Amino acid sequence: MSYVDEIIESVVAKNPSEPEFHQAVKEVLESLRPVVDANEEKFRREALLERLVEPERQLKFRVPWVDDKGQAHVNTGYRVQFNSAIGPYKGGLRLHPSVNLGIIKFLGFEQIFKNSLTGLPIGGGKGGSDFDPKGKSDREIMAFCQSFMTELYKYLGENTDVPAGDIGTGAREIGYLYGQYKRLTGRYEGVLTGKGLSYGGSLARTEATGYGLLYLTQEMLKLNGIDIAGKTAAVSGSGNVAIYAIEKAQQLGVKVLTCSDSNGWVYDPEGIDVAALKEIKEVKRARLTEYKNYRPNSEYHEGRGVWSVKVDLGLPCATQNELHLEDAKQLVENGCIAVAEGANMPTTLEATEYLQQHGVLFAPGKAANAGGVATSALEMSQNSERLSWTFEEVDAKLQGIMVNICHNMADAAERYGFAKNYVVGANIAGFEKVVDAMLAQGIV
Ligand code: NDP
Repeated sequence: MSYVDEIIESVVAKNPSEPEFHQAVKEVLESLRPVVDANEEKFRREALLERLVEPERQLKFRVPWVDDKGQAHVNTGYRVQFNSAIGPYKGGLRLHPSVNLGIIKFLGFEQIFKNSLTGLPIGGGKGGSDFDPKGKSDREIMAFCQSFMTELYKYLGENTDVPAGDIGTGAREIGYLYGQYKRLTGRYEGVLTGKGLSYGGSLARTEATGYGLLYLTQEMLKLNGIDIAGKTAAVSGSGNVAIYAIEKAQQLGVKVLTCSDSNGWVYDPEGIDVAALKEIKEVKRARLTEYKNYRPNSEYHEGRGVWSVKVDLGLPCATQNELHLEDAKQLVENGCIAVAEGANMPTTLEATEYLQQHGVLFAPGKAANAGGVATSALEMSQNSERLSWTFEEVDAKLQGIMVNICHNMADAAERYGFAKNYVVGANIAGFEKVVDAMLAQGIV
């Protein structure tokens, strides 16, 4: 049996109840076959793949908190410090009832390669909790965040582990987490990113993931001789990534026809109204059913359906495994030319293969949504320098990073004979630097 197959089999056997982690490992290792095969003897002797799929450290802890009625609750907190070969652990904190160890491990594993692809010195990690922020008061959110940080702070540090936001963790949550960290340690340091502008946050961090997704999509199309202006797009989600993806898409001349939340989706034939979306989601924290009040010509549908609309570009920006094989077939039938993942692993393996086999350009999340973590690393640099860069400076750096990522993934794919297969290209480009560092640092 090949080394890659052995490792995939052992990951499934050792972590039986973690299907998302299996999926992520399989997707990455399958595409690394050419590199692994070329170095098999050396990698085996150094147990390189065994070390790569085993987190350096996994934390799981109790998070007790009290609601507004005086009732106590207990959630489970996680932090997986996956790989620090090229820098301190870096990755977001997800607050969602679906969170479990397998999901955090899949996200942490993907993060290793994504962070490497940015070209910046950041290792891979991820964390979160099964706490559901929906419907909670500000005081309840604060109680949860303070309790969560009271356990986690022992393992963080500006040169050790620097968490950020993710699903359910926005500016409000980062503020409460930062306040508690500072109170417990007495240190004012860049230990979290996604901070508010008044206490060390970076301009353009809020926009970074969505904007970065469009910068990369634009470059990928350009490499294939296609101009992004004048195209139509379907976006899923209506959170941080989706909102700023829609905003930048429109700035680049793309008409975005859909967005969604976990209850349903909106079709707006005139193009999604970003100002209305921001007010509904960022200010009122309401559901998408409200969108019709702002745009009477739009349609609201319960359930799934964003991928059924005829568009040139598919931009999944909600959550993992939200674009299935049937959706991929529908997109192809409708003449879609490119799919770029704003969310982490939103496309199932079968759907990804189907899109690629049918000539749809496919940019995987670890490349396409790396703008968020890249800008977080820029926030860390500003904190270390005690300086704040302007929006334009950060945005220009972000743009440069996304264009670079696009070229690196395209080059790596071509070098190994997989031209235009950006999944293979992104995995190989991310892997090369991490492996080089791991080999140089010995068996640790
Ligand atoms: P938000 O919490 O701001 O938004 C998430 C959006 O996805 C919401 O519209 C939410 O709907 C929807 N959603 C969440 N879970 C589900 C589900 N199970 N089914 C259908 N819809 C769902 O998160 P972000 O925008 O920050 O993150 C979105 C994705 O992008 C995630 O995969 C995240 O890991 C990834 N990402 C985020 C980065 C960032 O900088 N924020 C960086 C890189 C990747 P509802 O409101 O109904 O829950």
